[in-house]
Amino acid sequence: MNILVVNAGSSSLKYQLIDTDTNIVGAKGICERIGMDGSLIEHKQLVKGLKAKLASPMKDHADAMKLVVEYLTDAEDGCISSMNEIQAIGHRVVHGGAFFSGSILMTEDVLEKLELCKEFAPLHTVAHLMGIKGCLEIMPDKPQVLVFDTAFHQTMEPEAYIYALPYEYYEKHGIRRYGMHGTSHRFVSGEMIKLLGKPAEETKIVTCHIGNGSSVSAVKGGKVMDTSMGFTPLAGVEMGTRCGDIDPALVLYIMDKEGLSTDEMNNVMNKKSGFLGVTGFSSDSRDIEDAIKAGPTDPNYEKAMLAVNILKHGLKKYIGSYASIMNGLDAVVFTAGIGENSPMLRELVCSNMEYLGIELDKQANERAFRCSDPTRISTDSSKVTVYVIPTNEELVIAKDTAAIVASL
Ligand code: AMP
Repeated sequence: MNILVVNAGSSSLKYQLIDTDTNIVGAKGICERIGMDGSLIEHKQLVKGLKAKLASPMKDHADAMKLVVEYLTDAEDGCISSMNEIQAIGHRVVHGGAFFSGSILMTEDVLEKLELCKEFAPLHTVAHLMGIKGCLEIMPDKPQVLVFDTAFHQTMEPEAYIYALPYEYYEKHGIRRYGMHGTSHRFVSGEMIKLLGKPAEETKIVTCHIGNGSSVSAVKGGKVMDTSMGFTPLAGVEMGTRCGDIDPALVLYIMDKEGLSTDEMNNVMNKKSGFLGVTGFSSDSRDIEDAIKAGPTDPNYEKAMLAVNILKHGLKKYIGSYASIMNGLDAVVFTAGIGENSPMLRELVCSNMEYLGIELDKQANERAFRCSDPTRISTDSSKVTVYVIPTNEELVIAKDTAAIVASL
């Protein structure tokens, strides 16, 4: 089945056309600056290896979808001959609140519930709704399926998702841990379960999705027991520009000391913290690793080292505490931009973890860089298996969409 996977942002729309029978991506691309001057589309036809980047006016997401379909069906650059070859559309949706514990076919009722999720992720949800409506306008007869980043985490027990705040806030405002990156945690834990070769119900896995945004999950028996992001994607380990876990009283203290409004404080924690806040020069782990590799004479070395050590420390704490709540650990998985591409961070995290049964194979770890397949980086004698598994959220979205459409 040919599934068009759509990830709509407020002024951008990423897409991939995936054949779920072969898992082949026929084409992918991104529309940028939608609704602004200078909008453009970057389209890659992967079967023929063609690439195009063109300025094209797009006043809204429907315009963007129209253009995407034109490219996909273009006689020269396209990979399908007509829109009829697209069987359905699968959307990435960032927040499904407590309404959605799995992927779902878009209906009026589903859209009404999604409207309510604006409370939790206003910018993202509005963008998703624009993407869905854009698809409805251009391809009114195609089934659309919504795949939520929060859904995989809905298996958590109340002891993991209820905050020790007055309970009425949970009842009145839905304040609880939701978690994010669920589609990625689901994909890599599913791959890891296959590799462990024992019954899924018996597996205990910690998945570390470490990119610009990062989260760690405890996946026991294929179900999430706990995850590091919370009510928002600000919680958990240190990230590119987000602070991760801090003493909650600090928010009030800093606002008072620095004379910040709530918006300004929100901005500090989301945009000015993490790697960027600690190093003062970059949120990108590549810049930070370059400074570390340059050595102690580099003026950015100390801060770069500190930023990476803070992330290492946070990851070790999460791995240890998740092993403890699962009463054991079979595997640790690293994924996403940093998890897949930074042997340095993986080595720092996996060193001095023998007490837990983790023994890193340093050479295998160095070799696991931009790998396209799951790669083991623990030694043969390591009690806990450690893997780098490239994430593939789009494939999960395409497969869920195909399964739902096939069952109609
Ligand atoms: P993501 O949010 O998953 O796209 O990950 C983005 C992060 O991955 C950024 O901090 C990038 O610097 C980092 N990243 C991507 N490629 C590499 C690499 N080759 N080495 C180290 N970090 C990388």
